[in-house]
Amino acid sequence: MRISVYNQEIELLVQTVSVALNRQDPTNTYLFYCPYCSYQMFQIRGLVSKITPGLEPTSNVVVVNRCPRCEMRYTIQEQRVQPTQTEVVLTRFGNKETVFRCYICRTPGISFADDVILLPSIKPVKLPIHYTCRNVKCGAHYYITDVI
Ligand SMILES: [Zn+2]
Ligand SMILES: [Zn+2]
Repeated sequence: MRISVYNQEIELLVQTVSVALNRQDPTNTYLFYCPYCSYQMFQIRGLVSKITPGLEPTSNVVVVNRCPRCEMRYTIQEQRVQPTQTEVVLTRFGNKETVFRCYICRTPGISFADDVILLPSIKPVKLPIHYTCRNVKCGAHYYITDVI
């Protein structure tokens, strides 16, 4: 996504959060926690089917929210599929080791820098991987496809 700041075009890294209606529980709302720092970002209705870097425009109006803590930017798009998992492309913050957390319950799931580690293990894993949130009360399913 390119925006103009003081007449200079800059590239902005935006995460597109795709949200689909939860048919089992259509009126339930969740607090979406920033997966990269666990800050309470916004209230969403439905389930997150994808968190991917880059802008996937499905509408003409794009609202971008910046996480005040880690500065990751998010935009929300509607998706019309019934999600069974959350597909994620992990995004590095420079060379720093980063922890990806469950957007529903904030439980750390993946730690990544050069290697991708499925917590609480310390051994690197190869992508893509499926895993279930370690919080048994949550049990969200994640499908991690790549790291950029
Ligand atoms: Zn954040
Ligand atoms: Zn969870």
